[in-house]
Amino acid sequence: MNEHDILKQSPFKISKSIQWAYYSTGCCWWTSFAADVVEGDGGSLACPHCDALVLQMSLLAFLESSVFNAERGFYGKHGLDVFYASHERNVHTCHQVFSDYMID
Ligand SMILES: [Zn+2]
Repeated sequence: MNEHDILKQSPFKISKSIQWAYYSTGCCWWTSFAADVVEGDGGSLACPHCDALVLQMSLLAFLESSVFNAERGFYGKHGLDVFYASHERNVHTCHQVFSDYMID
């Protein structure tokens, strides 16, 4: 899924105008589908692969921040490609560093 696919296919929650991004605080995992997130300790949201705490924010704001991060080299030489590659619907696992999503 690229940016276009993610925005087109991700479900709306709470109201018709909001799509959410769910992102891990302990690995590079993220998704835009609530169904991909699991319940962790104490009922918090968690990464389905490593149980790290997952937070959520507006999908549009999350995608905008990814562009900001890519411009500053946060994802390494593959830039936004590796950010999209780390979406759950593209990879079905999680890694600790973005470079592990791309094979040179
Ligand atoms: Zn994880």
